Amino acid sequence: MENNNNGQRPVRSARPTANPAGKPSVRGASASGSRTQKPAAGTNRAAKPISGMKTSHKSRRKQRQKNQFIILGAALAVVIIVIVIIVAARSGGKPKDDIAAIAATQTADNPSPWLIDGAAQTAGDPNDAPADNAQEQPVEAYTALEYLRNLVPGATAQPAQYLEVIKNGPASEKRIAVTVDDLNEVDNLNRIMTIAESNGAKLTLFAIGSVVNEKADLQDALRRANSLGFEIENHTYDHDRQHRLYSLTDEEMAYQIYKTQVAVNNALNADYTMHFLRMPGGNGEHDLRTHQYLNQLGNYKAIVDWSYSGSDAKIKSIKNNLNPGYIYLFHCKKDDLKKLEEFIPYAVAQGYELITLNDLLGYPANEVGEYNAAAYAEIPAPLPFVYEADVALGNKEYSQLYAAQLLQNRLIELGYLSSGATVDGDYGATTKLAVRLFQYYNGLTYDGFAGVKTQEILFSSQARRNTSGYIAGEPETYPTGEDRVLFETET
Ligand SMILES: [Zn+2]
Repeated sequence: MENNNNGQRPVRSARPTANPAGKPSVRGASASGSRTQKPAAGTNRAAKPISGMKTSHKSRRKQRQKNQFIILGAALAVVIIVIVIIVAARSGGKPKDDIAAIAATQTADNPSPWLIDGAAQTAGDPNDAPADNAQEQPVEAYTALEYLRNLVPGATAQPAQYLEVIKNGPASEKRIAVTVDDLNEVDNLNRIMTIAESNGAKLTLFAIGSVVNEKADLQDALRRANSLGFEIENHTYDHDRQHRLYSLTDEEMAYQIYKTQVAVNNALNADYTMHFLRMPGGNGEHDLRTHQYLNQLGNYKAIVDWSYSGSDAKIKSIKNNLNPGYIYLFHCKKDDLKKLEEFIPYAVAQGYELITLNDLLGYPANEVGEYNAAAYAEIPAPLPFVYEADVALGNKEYSQLYAAQLLQNRLIELGYLSSGATVDGDYGATTKLAVRLFQYYNGLTYDGFAGVKTQEILFSSQARRNTSGYIAGEPETYPTGEDRVLFETET
């Protein structure tokens, strides 16, 4: 997003240049100078004029020196006034005192230095900002929603279409789903499938599109999985840190989801309708934009997480955590293969049914139809929709969300977040600190969480720009000494 004028620091240097005291005296000096020339035009009286001229030269020189002093003095005064005003503007809400006030609110009852009660909060309201702010922003008033609408001109899609984010199936019966992700080690995958098959168990496989395209043996394995009644779901195309969906552009996000669909279709040579997406690492699963796009595609039922990660546990713990309705996460690494060799027969022996995710969650099986590859040639572009202030960040504290990019851009625009900060949608410690500073200097509860109230002010013309000098993401601007502790959550 492009920064506009709202993001600039206050410019106040225009005001102090007017100097009503200095100007008249300068003008007066030059006026008296021109008056002395008149007698010099006289002709008759020789002596007088000479001495007269002498005095006139002397006094003129004196006058000139005097004038220079006056001009110099006036200029100096102007410079001093400008400096004083600039310093006053930069120190804004007297940050030192403000931070001391925050520190003073730290008590045993109040473990978070930033979460204070309503009475103390009013102390956080900068005393000088409102009037100045009104002068700095002769911008037309706009609400948060107007601002957000302006970001996506011509938006057509309905806002706020969330799918479910599922971690568990119903616990009413001894039914579980074993899911296997990534599928990089194809030999291990085949052995896992054999174990499942021989135990009457079904698996759900979360495929990475690029891996499917690269590995012919994985394509074979997926055909085998499909013929065994196992199901294949979407685990994005690239899966790595650089391709977390919330950090990408609209088109890149669409690519990650849709190209995986196409890769699986090609492997199966079928029109295979997936029902679930699993985020790599579970990151960004509450990202509204992703939900919106899955809704737009139409075939997705939910974003699926897991109840228990078998990959991160010892076999003893996995067995101890055999519970009705659980969704288990495994991969194809050697360790996981060993665990599944033991866990699958164990769960069956305990009277559990190992079923697909669709079965566990009460959805029909993935549809398998005749393949028309041409129908998948183009990636459907995500329909642009407007984030409303009360849903832009939902209630998902410190999450990874595309909407957090809007927040980060706005914080940069207002000067609370470093213009060098990465706008990545990751609502991490630095973003949280920027939100805290914004909240503090806007008289809000400063908890670092951009709730509805914060968003409504942040995205509107009421938002005050940062004049404190403290900028999140620029540690050299943070206060030193005791106050420093308030900024050290940023690690
Ligand atoms: Zn994965």
